[in-house]
Amino acid sequence: MRKKLIIGNWKLNGGLAENKQRFNATISAVHDFTDIDIGLCVPYPYLFQAQQCLSGTSIKWGAQNVSQFVQGAYTSCVSAEMVAEFGATYALLGHSERRFYTDESSHKAVLRIKRAADAGVTPVYCIGETLEEHQAGHAKDVIDRQLLPLFELDVAAFARAKAVGLVIAYEPVWAIGADIAASPQQAQTMHAYIRDLMAACDADFAAKTRIIYGGSLTPDNAKAIFDMPDIDGGLVGRASLNSQQFSQICAAVVPSPH
Ligand code: PEP
Repeated sequence: MRKKLIIGNWKLNGGLAENKQRFNATISAVHDFTDIDIGLCVPYPYLFQAQQCLSGTSIKWGAQNVSQFVQGAYTSCVSAEMVAEFGATYALLGHSERRFYTDESSHKAVLRIKRAADAGVTPVYCIGETLEEHQAGHAKDVIDRQLLPLFELDVAAFARAKAVGLVIAYEPVWAIGADIAASPQQAQTMHAYIRDLMAACDADFAAKTRIIYGGSLTPDNAKAIFDMPDIDGGLVGRASLNSQQFSQICAAVVPSPH
């Protein structure tokens, strides 16, 4: 069984006072969800605050990127080792906003995955097609192009990525920050495709890896999406800024007792 996972992506939001309130409100709101993994990815300067506020709670924290470099003359870069020093469990990599605003390629994202895994940080590799690609019927080709470079990692790096529990986030770009999410069936089709593609390279990895969905998740649409067999949780943008909405999304993924 793959443990369900919900990660909030605060993006470029917050400030010390606002974060403190939001951390505390989120801690109380998700307090009862002990059977799932929960994480919050915050802007770099607030990793220290996340560590202070979230240590000892069930919520882990993470960064929204890490550099492909380890050390040196790379102004503005932040290494995986640095975020690990602040206790980060997760790092988002290849997010569509990074791909769009800084031209981040899948090959660069895969290098960053290697750095995160080397530092013991769980990479959350974000993949997904744009609206144009979706409308042209190219969604699966895009997934091929974005996912397959992962399997070009050398054997040792791939083993480390597996060991730290690499996560795949399927985020159709057309559903991010939009009014509407993918339908449960649309999302399931793509998640099953991703799992099959992974299985063709490594069946054990495909069976164990969590593939989470991101793109306009709300308390209203989350349950139907999470009920799909290949969807192991969610990456939540806007709704993670509201502790009540975030906790309702967490509640939607909690397996119901049989
Ligand atoms: C995201 O940016 O990863 C995301 C899923 O955003 P939103 O939930 O706001 O669509």
